[in-house]
Amino acid sequence: MMDTPLSIVSMIERAEKLFPKKEIISRTHSGIFEYTYKDMAERTRKLASVLKRLGVEKGDRVGTFAWNHHRHLEAYFAIPSIGAVLHTINIRLPGEHISYIVNHAEDKVLIIDIDLLPLIERVKDDLTTVKAFIVMADDTELPESTLEPLYSYEQLISEGDAEFQFSTNIDENDPAGMCYTSATTGLPKGVVYSHRGIVLHSMAAGLVDTLGISESDRILPVVPMFHANAWGLPFAATWFGSTQVFPGPQMTPQIIAELLEKYKVTITAGVPTVWLGLMQVLEKGSYNIDSIRAVVCGGSAAPKEMIRKFEVDYGIPFIHAYGMTETTPLATVARLKSYQQDLPEDERLELRAKQGIIVPGLNMKVVDDKGNEVPHDGKTMGELLLQGPWIADSYYKDDRSKNAFVDGWLKTGDVVTVDEEGFIKIVDRTSDLIKSGGEWISSVDLENGLMAHDDVIEAAVVAVPHEKWMERPVAFVVLKENAQTTKDDLLHFLEHQLKFARWWLPDEIYFIEEIPKTSVGKFLKRELREIAKEKIKQ
Ligand code: ADP
Repeated sequence: MMDTPLSIVSMIERAEKLFPKKEIISRTHSGIFEYTYKDMAERTRKLASVLKRLGVEKGDRVGTFAWNHHRHLEAYFAIPSIGAVLHTINIRLPGEHISYIVNHAEDKVLIIDIDLLPLIERVKDDLTTVKAFIVMADDTELPESTLEPLYSYEQLISEGDAEFQFSTNIDENDPAGMCYTSATTGLPKGVVYSHRGIVLHSMAAGLVDTLGISESDRILPVVPMFHANAWGLPFAATWFGSTQVFPGPQMTPQIIAELLEKYKVTITAGVPTVWLGLMQVLEKGSYNIDSIRAVVCGGSAAPKEMIRKFEVDYGIPFIHAYGMTETTPLATVARLKSYQQDLPEDERLELRAKQGIIVPGLNMKVVDDKGNEVPHDGKTMGELLLQGPWIADSYYKDDRSKNAFVDGWLKTGDVVTVDEEGFIKIVDRTSDLIKSGGEWISSVDLENGLMAHDDVIEAAVVAVPHEKWMERPVAFVVLKENAQTTKDDLLHFLEHQLKFARWWLPDEIYFIEEIPKTSVGKFLKRELREIAKEKIKQ
């Protein structure tokens, strides 16, 4: 076979040639902006030409600090198409982490949304490698800022070369992107994506048995473009010529519902907390979102009751998927096999609440403490290891690589079971499992159990130290407005309705107004453990 390189350049050039009329819709700071792939490709060429002019060379890192919108999409393609590296920076990280990762990646240029400028201004004195800042706004006016030199994105585009030729000098293993992922302890860790990895990942996202992204789709990524490439959706969507709808800055569940309805979105993707918020909006308002053929949910476990609500009550198909920054991120998808479609509703939902089967192209194994594979019995727990062309092989210039990448496998740090059908179920992060009297308790199972109660909006369970049992579970619960449910009601529900073993039941249930979340919307268990310890002392 021919050894032709896989490159992001061919993705944008395909959209430009074959789908020039297809639309991209983008909510910006001042309203809705619509254009076509023809215009998008032209502006991408212009951006690439000005980045070159600013001195960006092959292999240089260019950071983006931005929401989901069309300009960010242009940067997604312009930067790798000149052989540079698109470094998406998580805007929700604390200042010291932002400056750490910009310096660690040695970003040469930063492209920043206008409303996010203050976050970079705050850390500017700590940045050691940045030579130029570009501000993305709806006009060419430069805002007042302490950053310098500061250029206007729109001004630069207006001076760019629409005929600029993308690089022909790209090896498929060259770096194309970078994203830092937060560690349980310590500083964030950098993951580098190759052209080859991103192209193959996009190919996988187009398979009918995974996300089945196609030209006819209208895709709205709620998952941020600063987190694991918005799960690769902008790359795949552009390559396939799908219509893209970007929700822009400061999105709320209300805004998402409006965009889903107005632009007849067919696929949308985000973490469970986003869909919990959307469910509340859907319950209050009357939105017609019948066009949706898939709500993709990942990043944290999708509670079974949430899947039931979407699938059964709203008739909206729900796809539960699993992955991590290190896996580009798509790794497993919970799609029922043909012969599972006729199972009773509850069994079907039970399977859909698992994280699913490994996508074609990747390998997995689940091993015990000694590295032996565990039986596929749906019960025995082990750590999930992954391998494949879109799985990272190290962290960028980071000693922690040696613990996570061993003998050609990524150790995910996720504890799972595998059933006879090959469906994995995440029991916990290794660091979140609760070990009570030598036996494991899954915080995820307890959370899903609590969230199955009608009065519960959100629930998080963490371990607290215990003299006799070493660790015991305690729960934090957010109740619906005016709900009168008590701790005893919930414990009774878990034990008698859901049949949890008595020793699994949380020792304490704290009712709070909101569960603290990480920068990507997951329960912030570290903080919850601290709060629980304090409460127990009182
Ligand atoms: P970060 O580590 O920066 O929070 P990642 O997206 O890289 O962000 O997190 C990956 C982790 O998120 C996985 O290792 C796993 O623990 C969890 N995760 C991702 N998808 C799911 C899912 N569908 N169900 C349960 N946990 C998930």
